[in-house]
Amino acid sequence: MQSRVSGLLTSTLSAVVDLIAPLQCSLCGSAEATATGFQTCYCAECTAKLCPTPQFRCQRCSAEIGPWSTTTEGCIHCRGRKLRFESVVCLGMYDEWLRNALLSAKWSYSAVRMRSLGRLLALHRRQQLSELGINRIVPIPQHWRQRLIRHFNPAWIIAEEIARVLHVPCDIHLLRKVRGTRPQKRVSVTQRFENQNSAFAIRDAHVVAGERILIVDDVLTTGATCSEAARMFRRAGAATCHAAVIARVLDHSA
Ligand SMILES: [Zn+2]
Ligand SMILES: [Zn+2]
Repeated sequence: MQSRVSGLLTSTLSAVVDLIAPLQCSLCGSAEATATGFQTCYCAECTAKLCPTPQFRCQRCSAEIGPWSTTTEGCIHCRGRKLRFESVVCLGMYDEWLRNALLSAKWSYSAVRMRSLGRLLALHRRQQLSELGINRIVPIPQHWRQRLIRHFNPAWIIAEEIARVLHVPCDIHLLRKVRGTRPQKRVSVTQRFENQNSAFAIRDAHVVAGERILIVDDVLTTGATCSEAARMFRRAGAATCHAAVIARVLDHSA
């Protein structure tokens, strides 16, 4: 109960801070956070660092790869891994800048910071996302116990921003987390698929048939979480499943 109350207090306090100090860049502290015209909490200089021009990426897992690598069977980071989604769209790799921005948004339970990152993802990768032809956006849900403690789900916030920019409906109730899982970062990379096994259920399976679904999370490392969600959707008859995340984390930096 104590953690629930402190979680609620922290998120409320964070919302108040977000409201009274929205014009200062959340990363460098400069007083020109709206300079990009995108209405985010980051200044133009930090935005450029958070949204690097895409280099060569694996079409399957979105990891940055060399210009001559072939990715028909996946890249060195995902080859041989059973991924049930077709592709991943990300803002960038989990480098110093995206890592700092994501961790500061998560640790401060800041909806404004997380929304800003979601907005950057949606706006800077709009063409790539539009080309997927998706018609339903679904964030990775939390287990009800986790929701009770935190009242903060980064995936929901990011999904709502993508939905707003793409004008595609966001369905936050379609996927349900039915089993508490250990946090992926506390599980070895090889056990992460097993940790997510049967963790999700679909509320209205009949609405999934023929849908082109975008699964949204904050980061993607092994792909186990998004892959398990995609497996459920495909089993319910979804036509395609893609994933969108703020940052692509490579296994060795997980
Ligand atoms: Zn800045
Ligand atoms: Zn790959």
